[in-house]
Amino acid sequence: MNLILFGPPAAGKGTQAKRLVDGRGMVQLSTGDMLRAAIASKSELGQKVEGILQRGELVSDEIVVALIEERLPETEAAAGAIFDGFPRTVAQAQALDAMLAGRGKQIDLVIRLKVDDAELMKRIAGRFAESGRPDDNPESFKVRLDAYNSQTAPLLPYYRDQGKLVEVDGMASVEEVAAQIDKALGAAVS
Ligand code: ADP
Repeated sequence: MNLILFGPPAAGKGTQAKRLVDGRGMVQLSTGDMLRAAIASKSELGQKVEGILQRGELVSDEIVVALIEERLPETEAAAGAIFDGFPRTVAQAQALDAMLAGRGKQIDLVIRLKVDDAELMKRIAGRFAESGRPDDNPESFKVRLDAYNSQTAPLLPYYRDQGKLVEVDGMASVEEVAAQIDKALGAAVS
């Protein structure tokens, strides 16, 4: 099972991914986490991307595609892979399809967590104080949301046309969202 958790920043992708990892033994591949780890380790890559993340802009396709490629082998032994925060552009989606095809695999399901902008702003306002993430501030969040709307949302028709897109009400409670995701996963494997 290769699953993409899709949605704007603060939609709850990370929360739901963690549940699937704990409950189903799936592997979570979060490019955001990988980039933050690179920054924390002060690697060359980390230094290169630190300012980009801080501002809320997108890192180049080349960088994130390489990060994902490096991690694909570990998904083979797992019950499935959850792509979280990737792909974020059409070029990334095409690169992912090609990488999976090279392994005889494909994206099976794309779950979109739908949350409106007003709710996102409300959620993030609570996170500004406590997350400790340098990009959780009003200016960077606006850039992140704009990047989602202009560069990432255009991926929806890409997956819808392939019949892989399932929409879930991301405004519902964490438990309800989890139940909806379980339902979509059940339908995808049967
Ligand atoms: P969010 O909470 O906004 O969904 P993520 O943890 O997924 O955040 O990503 C944080 C930041 O890392 C993004 O704002 C962007 O700068 C960078 N990033 C993460 N994934 C990608 C990607 N697939 N393509 C480009 N940039 C990315």
